[in-house]
Amino acid sequence: MADGTGPSPQAASELRKLQSTDRLLRAAERAGFSARLGHGRVVEAARQVLDRYREMVLSGAPAPEPAELERTLLARLEEDARGTLRQVINATGVVIHTNLGRAPLSEETAAAMAHASQGYLSLEYDLEKGTRGDRYRHAEAALCRLTGAEAALAVNNNAAAVLLALAALGEGAAPAEVLVSRGQLVEIGGGFRIPDVLRRSGATLTEVGTTNRTYLSDFEQAAGERTRILLSVHRSNFRLSGFVHEVALPELVGLARARGLWVVDDLGSGTLLETARFGLGAEPTVQERIRAGADLVTFSGDKLLGGPQAGILAGRREAVSVARSHPLLRALRVDKVTLAGLSATLAHYERGEAAERIPVWRAIARSPESLREQVEGWRAMAGAAAMVCEVIEGRSEVGGGSLPEVSLPTSLMAFPPGGADARLARLRRRDPPVIARIEEDRVVLDPRTVLPGEDQAVAAAIAAELR
Ligand SMILES: *Cc1c(COP(=O)(O)O)cnc(C)c1O
Repeated sequence: MADGTGPSPQAASELRKLQSTDRLLRAAERAGFSARLGHGRVVEAARQVLDRYREMVLSGAPAPEPAELERTLLARLEEDARGTLRQVINATGVVIHTNLGRAPLSEETAAAMAHASQGYLSLEYDLEKGTRGDRYRHAEAALCRLTGAEAALAVNNNAAAVLLALAALGEGAAPAEVLVSRGQLVEIGGGFRIPDVLRRSGATLTEVGTTNRTYLSDFEQAAGERTRILLSVHRSNFRLSGFVHEVALPELVGLARARGLWVVDDLGSGTLLETARFGLGAEPTVQERIRAGADLVTFSGDKLLGGPQAGILAGRREAVSVARSHPLLRALRVDKVTLAGLSATLAHYERGEAAERIPVWRAIARSPESLREQVEGWRAMAGAAAMVCEVIEGRSEVGGGSLPEVSLPTSLMAFPPGGADARLARLRRRDPPVIARIEEDRVVLDPRTVLPGEDQAVAAAIAAELR
């Protein structure tokens, strides 16, 4: 068609060989795709596939066999039917993997969420009085019992919790000033930057101290007429070491009390369990920060808490009450399914079974022996070809912006070196997709994050790779 006069006689004859849309549609119908996807989507896909082949023929390719055309369409429809939000096998060993949906939920949590989503609920309904009730009461008592806080509030996520805390407690001064240590102005994964959130809250930010050293006197000198909040931010995904000084939370609280200011503590991951028990080094627990006197501690529901996506504000009654009556809460509010899941997750902590029942903690708490056995199991299931794979020692990460530079010993299934990127891509294209990682030019699979019931699929993926 280069001269603009239409297809060459040869291309025209090839074009005539292309199947009609009708025939293709009948094939899709027989395979059940009209029922699964709706007729409109099937017609659209058939048109697109035919158009693509037509272009190829016009640029000189021979017409495809009818069987090839059908195969292409059915593969495309299968892909459409799977959708984009798919269950995957996390073989990266990163326990709280934000791109893979963070915390997998406990059976009880998943059941509570399914149950809550399938009927009507006493979400904002007082069954005693038959009047309007309070959505936020459902998780509050458990949060208070577990953290020692006087009051608590759950919102959509921790970014929302920080935004609400600053907007609500900053109210009154226009614009309110928030003081934060320069060494804590961090960016968490996914572009969450404390300075940006602060600006959206309507407050202005004053950085105090230097990147590596901040003293109480820096806060004392900076606190002025418009200052309302002293903010502490957990650095989450990086660590300062060397010539470093930080203001401890109790010192900040002391200054705030003396000057009539609020202390907001963005704890990020917010663990209720002592991380040191699991070989992870010491992380501040929520209980500890509440005890130290923070007015509001904020943390995520789906990091080390191991529950559904949520943000928690826990702390002193007066501070929570100010947040609760702020109009922004309406835009950040948590939904019924999350509340049901959060309550079910918190119940594990109350029963003292969090490390056994919550998948995030179960993954963290796994013994080196059980990890090794699991990898050996894959190798045995994958058959003789898998003997070229090695079982090697490695490290798993907790992830989710918690515990930087802390990792846990694990065993890895390591493929032979070479072609690692291509192998990674093939594993991703499987059903279910297997998400692995590369170490020194070898694709490795970490059993720590492979859930019960997924071993067979992993072994099948290994076998297919070596075939
Ligand atoms: C993860 C994190 C956030 C953001 O929490 P989301 O629940 O993802 O909104 C905010 N602050 C800190 C310190 C964090 O670690």
